[in-house]
Amino acid sequence: MTGETFDLEDERLKEEIRKRGAKRVLIQLPEGLKREGPRLARMAEESGALPIISADPCYGACDLPFYEAEVLRADLIIHYGHTEIESSTPTGVPIVYMEARAKIDVERSVKNALEYLEPWSVVGLSTVVQHVHELDRVRALLNAAGKTVVVGDAGRLKYPGQVIGCDYSNAEAISSDVEAFLFLGGGRFHALGLALATAKPVVVADPYEGRAYPIRKEDAQRVVRQRWVTISQAKEAENFAVIIGLKSGQMALDPALKIKRYLEEAGKNAVLLAMREITPEALQEFPSIEAFVNTACPRVSFDEASIFRRPVLIVGEALVMLGRAKWEELLEGGWFKKFL
Ligand code: SF4
Repeated sequence: MTGETFDLEDERLKEEIRKRGAKRVLIQLPEGLKREGPRLARMAEESGALPIISADPCYGACDLPFYEAEVLRADLIIHYGHTEIESSTPTGVPIVYMEARAKIDVERSVKNALEYLEPWSVVGLSTVVQHVHELDRVRALLNAAGKTVVVGDAGRLKYPGQVIGCDYSNAEAISSDVEAFLFLGGGRFHALGLALATAKPVVVADPYEGRAYPIRKEDAQRVVRQRWVTISQAKEAENFAVIIGLKSGQMALDPALKIKRYLEEAGKNAVLLAMREITPEALQEFPSIEAFVNTACPRVSFDEASIFRRPVLIVGEALVMLGRAKWEELLEGGWFKKFL
């Protein structure tokens, strides 16, 4: 099913292995595509390399298996589903990105989105890498409906208009020029991030389901209210832990050290925790800690807030709590800004 929905570039996989003379490849797939692993591994083996599939979770290009490749003595990493990001510093093992472009039609979902876009005439376009090749088509469909379309390019991500879970710089670059955004893609994760990052109305065109729906203002406001409550709770805490992410593109050691110092200057106690997966179970092992500051993936704090029993602030929120940043900066779309 996934092989039919996404272009996994089977021929390029074989070519890359042969061209590079790779002898041992580590194959990394995001959660929804892992089931394709055994098929891809067979293909890699036929091309002359010993394939090993990484079975650990992978949610982004911030989580590349460089260390695993070294210990497994792999000479090539094949990563599916994401594009490179600047924070993931490569080590010696080369990496090939397979973008897993979707092979599904977008027209029905975009046409359905027109009803929700009715109040606005200037629309920004955003999408994930799986659909970037469809942006021209979407632009034409919107133009035909009388809309002016803007696609942002801040130069941080590989493609204009592209977003990832914690980087909306392309949308932010055009936010003041547009009245609303159309997000092309499945699920609410990126669309909600887009609404928070731009503070603009967002309409989702979901090509997998062929339908469209708006991200209601209240949806974003509910998250914002919850974050304010979380900051207020953390303010009361005395004992903090600052989380340092161990994933390749999530490590923010210097910001974590700074936050520890700022907390201590504010009279709080602070320890450092280094971890890969930030889960309630892992945090429960530290019952004396009353609040956490997460310097790794910000979406863990946001999207999984309800599963944590204690506040897990992102960096910007910790700075607001400490009076070193303004709440308005977050409200105006600074949720994914690198403050430190
Ligand atoms: S949102 Fe989280 S998982 Fe996704 S790229 Fe950013 S840090 Fe990685």
